[in-house]
Amino acid sequence: LNRRLAEFGTTIFAEMSALAVSTGSVNLGQGFPDTDGPDRIAEAAVRAIRDGRGNQYPPGPGVPELRTAVTDHQRERYGLAYDPDTEVLVTAGATEAIAAALLGLVEPGDEVIALEPYYDSYAACVAMAGGTRVPVTLRPRGGRFVLDLDELRDAVTDRTRLILLNTPHNPTGTVLTREELAAIAALAVERDLLVVTDEVYEHIVFDDSEHIPIATFPGMRERTVTISSAGKTFSFTGWKVGWATGAQGLVTAVRTAKQYLTYVSAGPFQYAIAEALRLPDAYFDGFRADLQRKRDLLADGLRAAGFQVYQPQGTYFITTDVTPFGEKDAYAFCRALPERCGVVAIPNSVFYDDPDAGRSQVRFTFCKKNDVLQEAASRLRRLT
Ligand code: PMP
Ligand code: GLN
Repeated sequence: LNRRLAEFGTTIFAEMSALAVSTGSVNLGQGFPDTDGPDRIAEAAVRAIRDGRGNQYPPGPGVPELRTAVTDHQRERYGLAYDPDTEVLVTAGATEAIAAALLGLVEPGDEVIALEPYYDSYAACVAMAGGTRVPVTLRPRGGRFVLDLDELRDAVTDRTRLILLNTPHNPTGTVLTREELAAIAALAVERDLLVVTDEVYEHIVFDDSEHIPIATFPGMRERTVTISSAGKTFSFTGWKVGWATGAQGLVTAVRTAKQYLTYVSAGPFQYAIAEALRLPDAYFDGFRADLQRKRDLLADGLRAAGFQVYQPQGTYFITTDVTPFGEKDAYAFCRALPERCGVVAIPNSVFYDDPDAGRSQVRFTFCKKNDVLQEAASRLRRLT
């Protein structure tokens, strides 16, 4: 393993899912649903294969049906207009879009600001691009993880190339507010920065929270690459269909990198996701309402078991603090959890550059059947 990747071993998700399998635990670690997405979308993928659509290399930017579905989605939901021929790129999940954006836009030595705790592929991809990551830490305040805008401002230097945003935010469940996004946007314009924004949880927001793409703010369309994917929104995480939208020059840079990573993304699923993006609002509303009930179910269970719970405004994760159990080390806590009570979770400490910052935080997912969540909650009560 080369020096760039030396600090990145097995991802925590693979490690913890393997632990769940080997111990027969309830897996509330890695975020993947235990119920597949809509039948008619699965049928659409089968039909595409049978009809010979996408069985041979599809077009590099993605099949036109999906590119148009993505641009229609951005326009109808957010008022963002993109050209489906030049301003959209279909990728192998959001993961590839993130990698290709960083590889295509970052010069060696450039600094990349990322909200910490950050999704683990960010650090590895910044490293692969030869960049330097500069974390800005979200801190709990009044039950919510909050971005300190002064800290963000102070993190910008002459070497800063871009801000890598994520909202709704994994793992904290924070949804950046209009005011926070406006301030980030104003800073990006003032300091002439690019923004790459990971919005894979755009449809998973709760209560009165609202997802607002930062590309909608003044001066941002031309400096923002917006990334999303079908995995979370349609409960087909194994299909790995993602996309990036942005001004032509930016998307061309991402596409140049993508050409040499995967060349193109798998074809038949693209046709199916083109259909999925056109599902009626009832699908999106029902999906969100169902997850909100699951959030409440798991949050109640975690509180009853003695965890300190940070109520998420979005995503399907709940971050907790395990200090009420006299625990200080989230990683050790998660390693021992299967044996103690047959549950697997993710230690947030691995998502921090300074592990002390998130030392006692543990993340649980609630994208599971209600009886699975109830079973996990009753097992966790054995901890006290
Ligand atoms: N970004 C975030 C914040 C995530 O939680 C995930 C996990 N799915 C991804 C990106 C990766 O998405 P995909 O599976 O589409 O590659
Ligand atoms: N995004 C999911 C999570 O955060 C799974 C990601 C992965 O397995 N790489 O748990």
